[in-house]
Amino acid sequence: MTISPYNQGNEMNCLKCNERIAFKAKFCGHCGAAAPEREVSGRAGEAKEYAKDVLSEGKIAAREAAQLAKTGLKTDVGKSVAACAALGAVIAVPIPFVGPLLGAAVGAGIGLVRKIV
Ligand SMILES: [Zn+2]
Repeated sequence: MTISPYNQGNEMNCLKCNERIAFKAKFCGHCGAAAPEREVSGRAGEAKEYAKDVLSEGKIAAREAAQLAKTGLKTDVGKSVAACAALGAVIAVPIPFVGPLLGAAVGAGIGLVRKIV
C-alpha cells in the first residue's frame, strides 16, 4: 500500500515519521521534519483553477439550455428536447473532454430521437 501525504482533508502524513500532522503545518510536530507545504498548495491551486473552469462552463451551458427551453416550450417535442439538453449539460460538466455544450447538444439529440421514434 502506498502512503500518500495528500490523502486526508485537513491532515497529512509526515514524510519522515508518518505521523498525522495538520495540513497547513510547516514542520512535523513529532519529529520536526519540514512538511511538503509548497507541493501541496500547488496541487490545491491547480484543483481550484480547474473547479473554477468547470463552474463557469456549467453556468454557460445552463444559460444555453434555459434559452433552448424558452424557445422550444410551445410544443411537446420542444419540452422533451429542452429537458434532455439541460440534463445532458449537467451530466457532462464533470467530464472535461466532453464539455457541457456538447453534452447539451447530445442531450437535445436524444430528446428529439426519443420523441420521434
Ligand atoms: Zn514527522
